[in-house]
Amino acid sequence: MYPSILIVEDEQRVANLLQTGLTENGYHCLVAYDGTMGLKLFQSNEVNLVISDVVLPGINGFELSKKIREINPSVPIIMLTALGSTDDKLDGFDAGADDYLVKPFDFRELNARIKVLLKREYKAIAPVKTQIEYADLHIDLNTKEVKRGDVVIALSPKEYNLLVYMVQNAEKVISRTDISEKVWNTHFDTGTNFIDVYINYLRKKIDRDFDKKLIHTKVGMGFILTDKL
Ligand code: CA
Repeated sequence: MYPSILIVEDEQRVANLLQTGLTENGYHCLVAYDGTMGLKLFQSNEVNLVISDVVLPGINGFELSKKIREINPSVPIIMLTALGSTDDKLDGFDAGADDYLVKPFDFRELNARIKVLLKREYKAIAPVKTQIEYADLHIDLNTKEVKRGDVVIALSPKEYNLLVYMVQNAEKVISRTDISEKVWNTHFDTGTNFIDVYINYLRKKIDRDFDKKLIHTKVGMGFILTDKL
């Protein structure tokens, strides 16, 4: 298991950005769009770190922090806010937050602070995942080397990102919209053809020379990466 991060953020754009970035860095993400949902997810999942916005519908970030602290006194909590006043910062620490970032924040900065907090609090848990595997597919997230069995497969950066996303969501149907939002970070309509073209590039490299095909089309729905078809 790799560290699990609960993201509580009502701005969907920021939530998506966090989820994509953290997933790419090998974390497992849970996303809640309000404080109540955040608390529910915290109670029903194993969470290793919480990132919460301050201004949220329902329970705000400070109240959420306090409630989380009652359940788990040591889970690291990072507060995000657009306000950035000293009072907010103090309130945040008062509520039990371990760290504080003002939006818009630098993703690398956030990532660095997450690493420090996880190291401090969770010395025992497994390090951030650097390898992902599915069937005979191996992806090294550090060197970005992709292999099927012992065969090294060279991918372009876009093909690589698409493959990582598909492997992280293996055995789930993913739509073209999912791909354009999560892999290309675009919300505008890039045209389905664009994505199909990349899926085909990927198929040529990942599947064409192998007996077991991993990438499958689900007509009218999208694509699925699975070794069960
Ligand atoms: Ca907010």
